[in-house]
Amino acid sequence: MIDVLTLTVELDIRSHYFYGRYRKLERGIPQTKWPCRACKGRGCEKCDFTGLQYKSSVQGLIGDPLLEMFGSKEHAFHGMGREDIDVRCLGRGRPFVMEMKKPVKRNIDAAVILEAINSSANGSIEVSDIRPSNRSEVVRVKDTPAEKSYTIRYKIEAITESEFDTLTQVMEVPANNQDRNKRRKNHHRRKKPEPEPEPEAEVDYSGMKKAELVELCLEKGLAKSGTKDVLIERLSSFKEATMPLPDPDYVMEIMTNLQGCTLAQRTPERVAHRRADKIRKRKVLETSHPSIEVDADGNMVAEFSLRCESGTYVKETVHGDSGRTQPSIASLIKAKCTVEWLDVADIHAD
Ligand SMILES: [Zn+2]
Repeated sequence: MIDVLTLTVELDIRSHYFYGRYRKLERGIPQTKWPCRACKGRGCEKCDFTGLQYKSSVQGLIGDPLLEMFGSKEHAFHGMGREDIDVRCLGRGRPFVMEMKKPVKRNIDAAVILEAINSSANGSIEVSDIRPSNRSEVVRVKDTPAEKSYTIRYKIEAITESEFDTLTQVMEVPANNQDRNKRRKNHHRRKKPEPEPEPEAEVDYSGMKKAELVELCLEKGLAKSGTKDVLIERLSSFKEATMPLPDPDYVMEIMTNLQGCTLAQRTPERVAHRRADKIRKRKVLETSHPSIEVDADGNMVAEFSLRCESGTYVKETVHGDSGRTQPSIASLIKAKCTVEWLDVADIHAD
């Protein structure tokens, strides 16, 4: 490339691309490198002067051992979707294209690349199917909507009427969500995002008039007699009654019957900074291997596998995301479901 202003000549070296699939065998590894939140990547005490929020990443585990081999200083990672940091990726693994930037060397045998990655990853990840690739395959890999299979394990606990009402409330994207989409754009421009609203604080009864306290007691079906202090004590120790726990057989039936179900999923809060706030329809294509464990105290933990359309939020399919995913296992069994872990069991592509 010739810069006509400075009359300098700069060599524009094409990147080298290779394709592969990765299996993530340990939780706690993000897919790509995250700059340290405290120093934004410059390096500080919090990140041991690495500039990274997490010590390793799938991108780093694949690309770093190859830098010297290719004579590159950096790499870019292009995956067929991504899994959350706490999610393993098993089965045949996730297809990806790795881009080695400004390489000095290109003709490195696929078997040598594979061996270099797998031996230095020490079992945290594992790659396979390595072969040369190109820029256009980056687009293909990023745009292929792949069905995925998952295994998920969750705890089942009693729910209150009002929590259940939240899970089944009418789902709509508020008209003023332009604010949020604006916030999203700001995020991409790397401006400071607006602060998120604080979670609802515990009600402060001490500032209320006695008449207000009496009314609250009546609302919750509590006695209205006594002094102001007595009323406050009664209100703050009040816990809403929970609904009866579902029968384990019924939970099994719901996991089986989720097969073929179309879900309405509003964008979860946790990804709202990078996805538009809207409602998408996603299908659960298949469910299998449901199981449930009940201990001596009646605590229930359930597990099953499900194959979903590309783009399905799977944890949300189980816990219901405060009514943003409907139906959900939680709304169907009328209980609180807390995800213990999730694994990608396979990615049905390539
Ligand atoms: Zn730092």
